[in-house]
Amino acid sequence: CGVFGVIGVVDAASFVALGLHALQHRGQEAGGIVTYADGPGFCSERRFGYVRDNFTKADVMATLPGSIGIGHVRYSTAGSKGATAIRDVQPFFGEFSMGGSAIAHNGNITNALALRKELVERGSIFQSSSDSECIIHLMARSMGRTIPDRMEEALRKVEGAFSIVAMTRTKLMGVRDALGVRPLVLGKLGDGWALASETCALDIIGAEFVREIEPGEMVVISSDKGVESHFPFRRLKPRGCIFEHVYFSRPDSILGGRSVYETRRQIGVELAREAPVDADLVCPVPDSGTPAAIGYSQESGIPYAMGIIRNQYMGRTFIEPTEQIRNMGVRLKLNVNRALIKGKRVILVDDSVVRGTTSRKIKDMILDAGAAEVHFRIASPPTAWPCFYGVDTPERGKLLAANMTEEEMREWIGVDSLKFVSLDGLYRAAGEPKGRNTKQPQYCDACFSGEYPVAPSDMIEKGFEM
Ligand code: 5GP
Ligand code: SF4
Ligand code: MG
Repeated sequence: CGVFGVIGVVDAASFVALGLHALQHRGQEAGGIVTYADGPGFCSERRFGYVRDNFTKADVMATLPGSIGIGHVRYSTAGSKGATAIRDVQPFFGEFSMGGSAIAHNGNITNALALRKELVERGSIFQSSSDSECIIHLMARSMGRTIPDRMEEALRKVEGAFSIVAMTRTKLMGVRDALGVRPLVLGKLGDGWALASETCALDIIGAEFVREIEPGEMVVISSDKGVESHFPFRRLKPRGCIFEHVYFSRPDSILGGRSVYETRRQIGVELAREAPVDADLVCPVPDSGTPAAIGYSQESGIPYAMGIIRNQYMGRTFIEPTEQIRNMGVRLKLNVNRALIKGKRVILVDDSVVRGTTSRKIKDMILDAGAAEVHFRIASPPTAWPCFYGVDTPERGKLLAANMTEEEMREWIGVDSLKFVSLDGLYRAAGEPKGRNTKQPQYCDACFSGEYPVAPSDMIEKGFEM
């Protein structure tokens, strides 16, 4: 998911809509905006579909007045399978003794089920099935004097990997989990401030990037006092999601002080060194494989070419919630450039193999177009473990790499060769050596290594196979 918030600007909702539009790649199922203005009070609009289709219409935007607002773009992750109900679309809003608060989050609260059970037993009435609603209820029950105090108290009970934007009538708040798994950045816009999942959302509104919110940090931003910083969590060594660098973030974002594009290009360089092959062309599977394909081509000297053309009007395949639509999605979205491919030995570079269905269909299309050889090069290690921290990987049984060796995968996909970048190669590309004794911050790499930095306790309780 993607989150965005702004304070101290005229017509906050327009800025939120633009920010969410720049974060649309993080979730395309639904979106919502909450604003506050004296008079009407808190105003909220939550809708299915794209930001551009919902939050550009004058009649909708007129219902969202005020100089403070937050927003969210959603895609459903593990636990919330099937169609989303509108009641699960964020931001959530709750009114309690000291005025209301709205909240939106990206990621996963890993002890949400346990918290929810306890809260319901003590009388809380939940409106949604979403884990972030727990925070609103914890805040309502808190004895804290101010809403930020209550937020801090609520956060101490929460485990997981998440970024939060929240607001009161006069304050914008931002939180990153103790490990900083999910991203969140701070920007300055005239006299106002913005919080966003990625820097590309600051660029679109012309805000200046100030800094990342630190892992474990909670910022409280008001027009009079500016940015105040709190640390509600125990301080831990950061473990940012490495998959943000591989796939999830936009390539024009700066993440952990690194250009996402440059990291991806460098992964391609590592791949070319680790898994060279003689061929005529290097082609990306667009768009997620593009920077790595450029790197592979530069390092190998094999010409880069657009062997697959993407229809720009389709979204990311994996965000489509059902398997049937996902299966169709490949052909709706990608087509082979036949004239280029015919008779050629082609290296195809993609970001990841998850279920393997995309790779298999792409191979069919490429061979159908007359390619002489097809070699797959993947810009991440085999995805062998599900993510419990907000990225929609399926259960282990559906992960190709959890059930097959590399050679079995090659055969199943039906290509001449298949190679993944090593975990060490990925770390090198992302600027950190892999290893327990290094001083540098390490990443979360659980979907590749099975080493989960936060115990997925809800999943363990549910008897989820790990
Ligand atoms: P597959 O066919 O292996 O499931 O899909 C792999 C391709 O689709 C990659 O290009 C990746 O960008 C995207 N993708 C498809 N499904 C998922 C998913 O569930 N999670 C992630 N992270 N990426 C996916
Ligand atoms: Fe990111 Fe993978 Fe960790 Fe999930 S498990 S947070 S996708 S690195
Ligand atoms: Mg892709």
